[in-house]
Amino acid sequence: MLSFSNSRIHAFSHSLILAFSHSSTNQQQQLMIIQLDQNITASQLERLKEKLREIQYKTNRVSTQYGDYIIGVGKKDFDIRAIGTMPGIRDIHRVSDDYKLVSKKWRVEDTVIELEGGIKLGTGHFAIMAGPCSIESEEQIEKTINHLATNGIRIMRGGVYKPRSSPYSFRGLGIEGLKLWYNKAHEAGIKIITEVMMVEQIEAMLPYADIFQVGARNSQNFNLLDALGEVGKPVLLKRGISGTIDELLQAAEYIFSNGNERIMLCERGIRTYETAYRNTMDINAIAMLKDKTHLPVIADPSHGIGLRRYVDKVALASIMAGADGIIMEVHEQPEKAFSDGQQTLSFPEAERLYKQMRQAFELREGF
Ligand code: PEP
Ligand code: MN
Repeated sequence: MLSFSNSRIHAFSHSLILAFSHSSTNQQQQLMIIQLDQNITASQLERLKEKLREIQYKTNRVSTQYGDYIIGVGKKDFDIRAIGTMPGIRDIHRVSDDYKLVSKKWRVEDTVIELEGGIKLGTGHFAIMAGPCSIESEEQIEKTINHLATNGIRIMRGGVYKPRSSPYSFRGLGIEGLKLWYNKAHEAGIKIITEVMMVEQIEAMLPYADIFQVGARNSQNFNLLDALGEVGKPVLLKRGISGTIDELLQAAEYIFSNGNERIMLCERGIRTYETAYRNTMDINAIAMLKDKTHLPVIADPSHGIGLRRYVDKVALASIMAGADGIIMEVHEQPEKAFSDGQQTLSFPEAERLYKQMRQAFELREGF
C-alpha cells in the first residue's frame, strides 16, 4: 500500500474494500451503511461485530475525514432496526443503488467541500474554476492569475501532466511547472486544480495541488481512484469519454470507500454519433446527478462542446440544469495556446461569461 506523508492512512485491509460493489446486492442480499458514533467504545464495536457475524454479514470498515462507517452485506430478510438501536451506532441505512456511499438515498444533506480561505464547493455555493488547458510558462501563469484575481475567481485550473491524443503533442511542464505555478497562485490567494494521471505522481504533487483532477481517460482507473481515496485533498472526478452516469458514480465510490469523501463529479461531455462538435455535453446528466448523489456536480463546457463560440451557452445551460460550479479554459491568447485553443475563451470573452454565470446562478437559486 502507498503511504503519503500528509495523508490519512487507513488501518483496514485493502483487499476487503468494495467486496460489496460487484452487484452483490442482488435479490437475496442487502447492503447497509452503519454510521458509527464518533466515540463508540471498543466493547460497543465488538458487540456490533459479533452481531454482524451472527447474522453472517460481510463487513468493511470505511473511515473518512467526516465519518466512520461499517458497510455490511448480507441476507435481505434481516431487519436492520435490530442494529440501528444498538449503543454506539449513530444511524443505519439500507441502500439499493449499485453505488452506495455516494448515493443521496442515505445522506440527504449535500456534501459541501471547504477549502482554506472560506471557499465552498457544493449546493448553494457557485464556484468558477478557470485557467488554461496547459500550464505553459511563468508569464502565462502571471497573466492568468492577474485575470482571475481581477474577476474574483479563487480557483485556477491548468494541466502540468497532459493526456494528449497524439504522443507528439505538448505533454506538460511536469512537477517543476506545478511548483512554480503553486507559489505564484498562493501568493495571490488562488487555489490550484490540476490533473494527476498516475498513482506514482500523487506523492510529489500532494503539497502543490489543492484539488486533484482525474481526467476523462482515467475515470475508471481504479488503482488511481483507490490511491486518491487515501489523500487528504479533494478530488474532481470527470466522467469517462463513453462513461455512463452509473459508472461515474461507482468510480466515485472507490474514492469514498478508501477514505476520502471530498469528491466532486464533473460532466465534460461524452462521445456520441454526433461529429459537429468535439463532445456532446450531457446536460441531462447534471440534473440527474444532482438527484442521485450528495456530491457537488461541476460542469466543463469547454470540453463539453469543444468550440469557443458555444462555450458560454453550454455553461449557462449547465447552471440552469443544477451545476454547482463551472470549470473552463481561458487564455490570454487562445490562438497561441499549446493545447485546446479552439475551445478556450480569451480574457474579455471569459469576463463577460463570469458575469452572466453569476447572474444565472442567482436566478436559478431564486426559482
Ligand atoms: C482537461 O481538463 O484539460 C482535460 C484533458 O480534460 P478531460 O479529461 O475531460 O478530457
Ligand atoms: Mn483541455
